[in-house]
Amino acid sequence: MEKIQNYINGELVQSISGEYLQNINPATGEVYSLIPDSNADDIAEATSSALRAFADWSSMPVEKRSAILLRIADLIDRDIDRLALAESIDNGKPVTLAKAVDIPRASANMRFYATGAIHVSTEAHITGIEAINYTSKTPIGVAGCISPWNLPLYLFTWKIAPALAAGCTVVAKPSELTPMTAYLFSKLCIEAGLPQGVLNIVHGLGSKAGQAIIEHPDIHAISFTGGTVTGKKIAATAAPMFKKLSLELGGKNPNIVFADCDFEQAVTTSILSSFSNQGEICLCGSRIFVEESIYQKFTDEFVKRTRALTIGDPLLESTKVGALVSEAHMNKVLLYISLAQQEGGNVITGGRRLHLDGRCSNGFFVEPTIITGLTCECRTNQEEIFGPVVTITPFKSEEEVISFANSTAYGLSATLWTENLKRAHRVSSKLKSGIVWVNCWLFRDLRTPFGGMKQSGMGREGGWEALEFFMETKNICIKL
Ligand code: NAD
Repeated sequence: MEKIQNYINGELVQSISGEYLQNINPATGEVYSLIPDSNADDIAEATSSALRAFADWSSMPVEKRSAILLRIADLIDRDIDRLALAESIDNGKPVTLAKAVDIPRASANMRFYATGAIHVSTEAHITGIEAINYTSKTPIGVAGCISPWNLPLYLFTWKIAPALAAGCTVVAKPSELTPMTAYLFSKLCIEAGLPQGVLNIVHGLGSKAGQAIIEHPDIHAISFTGGTVTGKKIAATAAPMFKKLSLELGGKNPNIVFADCDFEQAVTTSILSSFSNQGEICLCGSRIFVEESIYQKFTDEFVKRTRALTIGDPLLESTKVGALVSEAHMNKVLLYISLAQQEGGNVITGGRRLHLDGRCSNGFFVEPTIITGLTCECRTNQEEIFGPVVTITPFKSEEEVISFANSTAYGLSATLWTENLKRAHRVSSKLKSGIVWVNCWLFRDLRTPFGGMKQSGMGREGGWEALEFFMETKNICIKL
């Protein structure tokens, strides 16, 4: 059975304790590889290696740094089939999705920041004839990057690319549920000639290896993507140490459909925003609000198309919905479906675990599920389920749907469908979300700020903001 290894000081090594955790293929329920069960000792090793590498990496001409990162991007593209297959086996997502979205986005992340870093400029302020102020931006030191399981290599590279491009060295931990592509990535870094110690990838549990990253005194910036509860814990540890923090957390995103929308486009994209990646995308629109006059028409069509989705073996080209990431997560999703029923909801399609025939008979599959008849205040409509489950609720007016949309503790993203331009601007300005998509969903431009309001997080990724996060700003004032 394959043993995944840590990547520390440029080498692939086992954890200091020699202990391993099991890695399960969610489509079959079988253990198929082992992961180092790293602890604070491994993080200490990784951090000293990153500290040793910092002087050379941060002072290397940016063009040279950029060239190494671009080489890594090219290697990801070269290995797209292998990486997509690995992502699908590790996470349960359809291999076609991994090949079309996850892996291309991973190389795009590396390219975007490799080239962006070359264009960083700083400001000067001339104070009459008396003084000149100039601002320098320098890499902050060793950064800690922690990522979740839903878009494994995509989100892992979304953090480490700006950190490395900014000149930081990194200690990173992918999710223990989906470690495989980060492991394959470490091999690509070696092949690309990334100097030793610049990136260190330590595998293991959040409560052990992850917590040790947050607590390490020599790690000055933490970029974290994951759940809101974990985010709170991380903030509680990091804040008294005055670490710089970027937190990308959970969501409970509204998808608002006005009667004057392009109906076909709204339904087609709502299927994607509800069930892509089994609904395990922080940006999925799990609360659908439909204007009363088209509520029945929308619901009928939406149910029809949901029932037509092929749930199946993630390795088959025909599969649109794969397995949930783990048994525990599947059970959590199923519990929320029963809770919805206790709260008075009607499950109008889906609602059950599926046992497929053949090799996937013990996999963690849940039918795409649509629930109606719930209030906005109930737990089903307030808490993040993070699975193939959506609710549909009718609304009467713009004011009402804005209050519905803003009624949760989250504020990550929102989608709205209308052909009325004034309404689009008006409603967008009132939504308490870090990202609003009008007549589209998950349309990404990597230059734009990405992140959430309220309990969806702190800080923004994307564009210059992510590069700046990994830098320290200093103003130098010279009296003339
Ligand atoms: P999680 O919070 O359980 O784990 C995320 C990562 O944090 C994992 O690598 C985990 O090992 C680590 N971790 C756990 N406890 C830790 C601790 N005490 N200290 C340090 N690290 C720790 O989240 P998850 O279940 O892997 O991912 C799902 C969540 O991520 C959902 O809530 C989803 O909305 C959110 N998410 C947010 C975004 C975004 O951009 N806002 C993107 C994707 C996922």
